Amino acid sequence: LIPEAQGILARHWSLAHELGHALRHAGPIPGLKGKQEAQANHWASCALIPEARILHHQNASIDAMIAALSAHYEDIPFIDCPNRRLAARIGKYRLEALAASRT
Ligand SMILES: [Zn+2]
Repeated sequence: LIPEAQGILARHWSLAHELGHALRHAGPIPGLKGKQEAQANHWASCALIPEARILHHQNASIDAMIAALSAHYEDIPFIDCPNRRLAARIGKYRLEALAASRT
């Protein structure tokens, strides 16, 4: 289910995403897949980057989110690679969740 070849961040992300599904909705609802994926992504990004880690960054940015993930899970290289793309995606979801929580 969760390939061993993936890194620590990818494994945590997969687990958190599925946990997000389990906690946020009872089961697949036809026509709501996109919305449910977004909910699971946002829940998982909040699980991986808690509010306390964001408060350290006055200017929350994708780079700050990647740095938080890098410090907590595994080194994220500065070069373009699957791990950096995943971290950037998680960071984007986290910033969206942050913006939603502050409106
Ligand atoms: Zn999903």
